[in-house]
Amino acid sequence: MTESAVDSATVQRSRSQEILSRWGQTEGSFARCDVPVAWARARGTTVVDVDGNQYLDWTSGVLVANVGHAHPRLVAAVSDALDDLLNCYDFATERRVLAGEALLAHLPDHLNRCAFFTTGSETVEACLRLMKRRSGAFEIVGFHGGFHGRTPGVASVGGLAAMKRGFGPIMPGVIRAPFPNPYRSPVDSGPDGLIEYCIDRLEDEVRASSTGSLAGLIVEPYLGTAGFIFPPDGYLTELQRWAREHDVLFAVDEVQSGYGRTGRMWAFEWEDLEPDLVAIGKGMGSGYPVSGLAARESVFSAVGPGELGSTFGGNPVGAAAVIEVLQIMDDEQLVDNARTVGGLMMDRLLELQDRSPYLGDVRGRGLVIGLEIVADKRTKEPSRDITVQLLNCAADNGLLAGAVGEHGNVIRVAPPLCITEDEAMDSTERFAVALDRLGR
Ligand code: PMP
Repeated sequence: MTESAVDSATVQRSRSQEILSRWGQTEGSFARCDVPVAWARARGTTVVDVDGNQYLDWTSGVLVANVGHAHPRLVAAVSDALDDLLNCYDFATERRVLAGEALLAHLPDHLNRCAFFTTGSETVEACLRLMKRRSGAFEIVGFHGGFHGRTPGVASVGGLAAMKRGFGPIMPGVIRAPFPNPYRSPVDSGPDGLIEYCIDRLEDEVRASSTGSLAGLIVEPYLGTAGFIFPPDGYLTELQRWAREHDVLFAVDEVQSGYGRTGRMWAFEWEDLEPDLVAIGKGMGSGYPVSGLAARESVFSAVGPGELGSTFGGNPVGAAAVIEVLQIMDDEQLVDNARTVGGLMMDRLLELQDRSPYLGDVRGRGLVIGLEIVADKRTKEPSRDITVQLLNCAADNGLLAGAVGEHGNVIRVAPPLCITEDEAMDSTERFAVALDRLGR
């Protein structure tokens, strides 16, 4: 990869430029990217653009290609399935059953039933419906900065203004509480004090707003779209305890954090949690669109035939992807790899933080690390401008990354979980070069 690194002096992207300008003439302006690169193909951790430039990938296509881009076994499994049968809706197929068996085998024993959908938003919508039906109540607790998708129900539960502003009334019955952000803590009493503050605020919000009809609580193990914000250890345990005390269902949105991303198969395993419902997506098909929901049989039994489901949920091609992705993850020990290689990357990135005036915070777990870019480390003022410059410098140096966060100033370090130590170090060096160029 080093030999083929893109040299910023010679980087040529005329074909990308042409495609980007045609893109602007077709889709609405919401569809855009921070770096002017049109992808042609990708394999493993390497992306090739339409001009033939190669890059190491820190995006996994928004934390999707966990087993690596176009894993040959996944491509073969999906192709075989395509050859047999594309869709049969609610008729049974063996692939669908095998996918369910494989998924449940990778979940704790108490989660003994699942359902298949297509997108993350769809599975979280189903999760909300199920919590309401099971409990017979309707209020859902969500979090400031939470993101569960863009369809109306899940956007209402989420805590990001951009998903709601100007789109009319949100779903009634949502109660939202602050999520702990150690980098921008409202209290100066350390991690335990921050946890206590957030749980107290949750209690206050519920006391002030609940009509006495609490159905459930849904939380991301770390805030993904809001900027890879990791709560202090122990916070999720406290939330689960709170949910049990108030007799409400405890749901975890693992659409982004699941499938090994944090160095455990599920992020909830870091605190030995026992969620009542788990929403799953992204890495589940590692590029093939498929999502799922897991819960106890006693939770699913609240809905009757046809009351959950969708046209493409459980289709045989998606099912083939689910089966093969899990097998690849086991065979290649990708969860362990995420933990070890992620740890090495974190060490190196923390060193970079010390010497960079812009790297305000480096946080994460496994292969999901957020680099919060600020204009001034003392005031912590978010800088979208510097972020975009950094992303472009990195791309010129053969590294593709994207940004998230309410201010778009958190660079995502989220490579495919198959990244090797050499590639991990190579990619962090490419980022270091970008930082140095900016620092000059
Ligand atoms: N939940 C979480 C935690 C997510 O990160 C996302 C997508 N970024 C979603 C739900 C929605 O998934 P989708 O875009 O597939 O609908």
